[in-house]
Amino acid sequence: MKAAKRTAAAEKAPAEALEGVLARVKKATAAGRSTLAIFDLDGTLFDNRTRTIFILREISEKFDNRAPELSAAFERFQDLSIVDYSLDNTLKRMGVRHPAEIAFIKQEWAKRFFSDEYQKYDMPILGAKAYVERVHGAGATAIYLTGRDVGRMLVGTTEVLRLYGFPVGVAGTMTIVKKEFEQDDELFKKEVSEYIDRLGEVVAVFENEPANSNILQARFPGADSFFVLTQHKPGAPDLKPGIRRIKDFRTGKTRPGGN
Ligand SMILES: [Mg+2]
Repeated sequence: MKAAKRTAAAEKAPAEALEGVLARVKKATAAGRSTLAIFDLDGTLFDNRTRTIFILREISEKFDNRAPELSAAFERFQDLSIVDYSLDNTLKRMGVRHPAEIAFIKQEWAKRFFSDEYQKYDMPILGAKAYVERVHGAGATAIYLTGRDVGRMLVGTTEVLRLYGFPVGVAGTMTIVKKEFEQDDELFKKEVSEYIDRLGEVVAVFENEPANSNILQARFPGADSFFVLTQHKPGAPDLKPGIRRIKDFRTGKTRPGGN
């Protein structure tokens, strides 16, 4: 009973904090001020595990002679929890042991994972689309700030945002990707945040990488900082105090522009 009560309270708080962002945006918009909300994509608005499992399934079907252990793994496949942040760990969990097979799968996976064509297999995090739509509808500029790169992934990124109904390409939205794939993610976000700082008041930041979350919180101390509990790089630093952990974007209210 006690535990159930505590859980209910913990779940209520993030929803209130998410609603608080909307209240801030509305107030600023009414006063004629510009606000910005920064959303990371991978692991923040989207769950990428579906992209990986789709790709692995395709590899197992297409190259079953070169990936027999992977093909066999799909006979036992149960659910997405088998997909780890690291592809090496995922393959280990799936029982793929042969070094040549692992190398082959990794090469085929990377070709697909970092490409326009396969992003549509990502699954939006619960409530993400409705929430971004509401933030945008309240007058904030929704900034998609992602470590994906322009050459291989911008088209697919735009396509998948549109496919799932996120505001994209219209007034009050901005998509910022990396110029070069090789660029360091953290450095990229740090540099770009200096530019974003000049555009207006950042009211909220959403991330799933502790390092990025800490960087952006330090850069935008006035913003509400949210950390989405999905997957992140191993060996990540501790999250700085004041960053709120959320499981998803559900607030119990879904209508864009609603109260
Ligand atoms: Mg991410």
